[in-house]
Amino acid sequence: MTDNSGSDWTLEQVQALDARDPLAECRDLFAVPKDVVYLDGNSLGMLPRATPARIAALIANEWGEGLIRSWNQADWINLPAKVGALIAPLIGAETWEVIAADSTSVNLFKMVTAALRMRPGRRKIITETGNFPTDLYVMQGLESLLDGVELVPVEAGDIFEALDEETAVLSLTHVNYRNGNIHDMAALTKRAQAVGALTVWDLSHTAGAMPVDLNDSGADFAVGCGYKYLNGGPGAPAFLFVADRHQDEVDPPLSGWMGHARPFDFDGAYEPAEGITRNLCGTPAILGLAALEVGLEIFSGVDMDGLRVKSMALGDLFIDLLDQLCGDHGFRLASGRDCETRGSQVSFCHDDGYAIMQALIAKGIIGDFRAPDVMRFGMTPLYTRYRDIWDAVTGLAEIMDSETWRDPVFSERAAVT
Ligand SMILES: *Cc1c(COP(=O)(O)O)cnc(C)c1O
Repeated sequence: MTDNSGSDWTLEQVQALDARDPLAECRDLFAVPKDVVYLDGNSLGMLPRATPARIAALIANEWGEGLIRSWNQADWINLPAKVGALIAPLIGAETWEVIAADSTSVNLFKMVTAALRMRPGRRKIITETGNFPTDLYVMQGLESLLDGVELVPVEAGDIFEALDEETAVLSLTHVNYRNGNIHDMAALTKRAQAVGALTVWDLSHTAGAMPVDLNDSGADFAVGCGYKYLNGGPGAPAFLFVADRHQDEVDPPLSGWMGHARPFDFDGAYEPAEGITRNLCGTPAILGLAALEVGLEIFSGVDMDGLRVKSMALGDLFIDLLDQLCGDHGFRLASGRDCETRGSQVSFCHDDGYAIMQALIAKGIIGDFRAPDVMRFGMTPLYTRYRDIWDAVTGLAEIMDSETWRDPVFSERAAVT
């Protein structure tokens, strides 16, 4: 792979990796901006080339001409399930176990609440202290909403011991957003189920970035994001997964009409639909779903194991090059050095990380910064080239060597980092 046996990388060697990359052609399916090295697909995936025409046609024809008829004629009503079925093979689920809807935050609320309702008498939700903030906030909200529910955040290394007979739900993000560390889904699920608890996995940094097998791991519930590695566009609909064995047991906390058994009977009493559909709430966002569908179509025919191999190699190359070119500039690796322990990103801590990242972005090298000191670089194997990693780290070395990041303009904080 990228094992260079400890010697320095040359540009020619890096270009040779691109020349024999089996995924190289996928990059042509994306509208890659000129003069940009994009290492932030873990925050917002790139625009697929096919998306603008698809959305324009939908607006002109299905909305403009078809109007209300398109719910039937263009089958809008089944788009959440259709999009869910495209996500299913990426996460080791059956097509009928996944549906696209709402946001990740809202879906987490729905899934954790559904799981809590299936474990009456148990009070604890176990999660990780370093979980993504919205996940923590949603569960803090649940704690104050539901009597007798207690959120217990523990350090990543203490999860096994924290699971006990009082645990109703184990709710974790599979790949940590900050350092990229991967939880052992199968082992933790097994342990949670051994004490009688249910699991809710957040796959926001997993789906489309690396293969995962929910059913093989015995997972109960999952949620995940549509606008990161699935390339669905800003604020794309999210998804949720309910294992087949639980589907009829879910008592939806957001019991809206789109999850009703017969929404167009306009009956005054709620009756949940069969299967995954009951987890819908309101009218689906058709434009967003259609864009997400285009992003997902790119994955058909992509070998997820091959994608993972490339993702790990890109990360290894980044770390090697940073050692080689920026070794004495105070960067501390926050991700695992062993690629098997990382998702599709590498993170470094630096005391001046914010300003350095702004200086990088000003050069067209786009990663992101997570307070207080983490610089993240996401690899999206569908469009990230080895050459991009070379350009990013050589650009970083220039900024560090010349100290251009010290310009005060790079220390001004924007609303979104
Ligand atoms: C990106 C991300 C989210 C985003 O949630 P939204 O509701 O889309 O804002 C949630 N959880 C995790 C772990 C994420 O990485």
